[in-house]
Amino acid sequence: MALSLPTFDDVLHAAERIAPHAHRTPVFTSRTLDAQLGAQVFLKAEQLQRGGAFKFRGACNAIAALSPQARARGVVTHSSGNHAQALALAAREFGTQATIVMPHDAPDAKIAATRGYGAQIRFHDRYTEPREEISAALAAEHGYALIPPYDHPQVIAGQGTCVRELIQEHGAMDTLLVGLGGGGLLAGSLLSAGALMPGGQVYGVEPEAGNDGQQSLRVGHIVTIAQPRSIADGAIPTHLGEHTFPIIQRGVRDILTVTDAELVVAMRFLAERMKLIVEPTACLGLAALMAGKLDVRGQRVGLVLSGGNVDLEVLARLMTNAV
Ligand SMILES: *Cc1c(COP(=O)(O)O)cnc(C)c1O
Repeated sequence: MALSLPTFDDVLHAAERIAPHAHRTPVFTSRTLDAQLGAQVFLKAEQLQRGGAFKFRGACNAIAALSPQARARGVVTHSSGNHAQALALAAREFGTQATIVMPHDAPDAKIAATRGYGAQIRFHDRYTEPREEISAALAAEHGYALIPPYDHPQVIAGQGTCVRELIQEHGAMDTLLVGLGGGGLLAGSLLSAGALMPGGQVYGVEPEAGNDGQQSLRVGHIVTIAQPRSIADGAIPTHLGEHTFPIIQRGVRDILTVTDAELVVAMRFLAERMKLIVEPTACLGLAALMAGKLDVRGQRVGLVLSGGNVDLEVLARLMTNAV
């Protein structure tokens, strides 16, 4: 079956669909940062998005795009991260039921937050029951629409609305740096950048320990790696998606990597100097800049602070100890 890849038109439709539900998040700047980098940097604050991450955009758009009949039957996903909370929240917003497949040993705070948004949870054993099989079975049995965290045209289109807002409000950027996990955010951003900042460059940034995207770009096909370990827990899927990879391959300038220690430097800067609390994954782009992985002198640079869902104990540890 031929894949149907989303286009910038889909991003525009997504923007209309999600407008009544999603926040138009603010954009922050810092003279200290600009002086340090010799550039003009614009940080789009998606940690202030509903559900605490940009994931609400894609989840909301995917549910809004369903037919009323399909929507009434409910939705299912197998992510336990920010997408789970985003889908639960979006489902409640549209008056439908979300079922989230989560491992038994998921953190209590995450389980409570997902339940708090009204989702039903189907627990599984992460070592014996593959989560994709469970969500597919639930979809087949109950007619739920399966909405995965990144490999879905309407999810990608929804994520693209974030960079569209940034460019709409602040003009075209010379360079855009976007965190990369499964590639929904990067692919969506590329759709918007391709239409709205011709001549600009878009980079993906992933954790060094989970550089499957960089490897995939180098060899020209999707590379799957072993489950990586990084404090950037929102960016450790083991492979890109069938929908996200071709869009990324076509449009991205390059994929950079950063270490956990470099992420912490950026996270501390955001907290201390800009009073912005974000999760480690949200720091991928800024960490690449602060670590000097890309020369952006004299440029207008856009960054997406992708989320803010960090456990307070983890936050305290990262702020005070070296990793
Ligand atoms: C999911 C996520 C990412 C990565 O997004 P993909 O679409 O999987 O590439 C980055 N940051 C945060 C906070 C996320 O939740």
